[in-house]
Amino acid sequence: MEIVILGSGTSQGIPIIGCTCEACVSNDPRDKRLRSSVFVRTEKVKIQVDVGPDFRTQYLENELSSIDYVLFTHEHNDHVIGIDDLRAVNFIQKKQLPLLAEKRVLGEIKKRFDYAFAAEKYPGVPDISLHEISTEAFRLGDIDVTPIRVIHGKLPILGFKFNDFAYITDASMLEQSEIDKLYGVKVLIINALRETKHYSHFTLQEALDCIEKINPEKAYLTHISHMMGPTRAWEQKLPSRVLPLQDKMRIILPD
Ligand SMILES: [Zn+2]
Ligand SMILES: [Zn+2]
Repeated sequence: MEIVILGSGTSQGIPIIGCTCEACVSNDPRDKRLRSSVFVRTEKVKIQVDVGPDFRTQYLENELSSIDYVLFTHEHNDHVIGIDDLRAVNFIQKKQLPLLAEKRVLGEIKKRFDYAFAAEKYPGVPDISLHEISTEAFRLGDIDVTPIRVIHGKLPILGFKFNDFAYITDASMLEQSEIDKLYGVKVLIINALRETKHYSHFTLQEALDCIEKINPEKAYLTHISHMMGPTRAWEQKLPSRVLPLQDKMRIILPD
């Protein structure tokens, strides 16, 4: 299984338009962070997780063009607003694309992209179908997908376990029952916004505490804010098995 890191930044990305802070003016390529998203593939299946505002750039820069399923963690704009650009994938694949999310999230997608579901569509709109998922596990190709209930401020959202790999973004709290589901993962990607408290995102310390509990072989931090500072400054604070996630990184897991 290969995981392509499409983006590792918070909703504004890094750099932020007009910002002159140390992270935003940094020359370190690791401090260029598009909005958080990953692509997971095996020989049998290609899964896109979230479709944010940088989707087009992410697919061009990583030379991707085909998808079997799109999974959504939640309906915030930095995770869904690139859906219109899925029409490029329709064009290449010449088939409808299935979108999988919880009921509330599907409702929001339908509202924001109503023209894609109109009875009479104008030509070239994204050709997508909506499929409801819950916290029940399911299988896509040769990947066992286990949805993880994640609390994001007050919003219940989803993270996903794909075989031995787990992707958790926008978490501020995880119940013990969900941590139990994550025991044994080899690689974990989890969000850490910044060092100071935030109502809907883990701080660096909260993310590290959560990693301790889950105990993966390796963990990467994502959904990073410019308020964390430049990567070289905060990576030194990480224990040896925890690394900053980096856009365009590719993580390979044995099947
Ligand atoms: Zn987000
Ligand atoms: Zn969010």
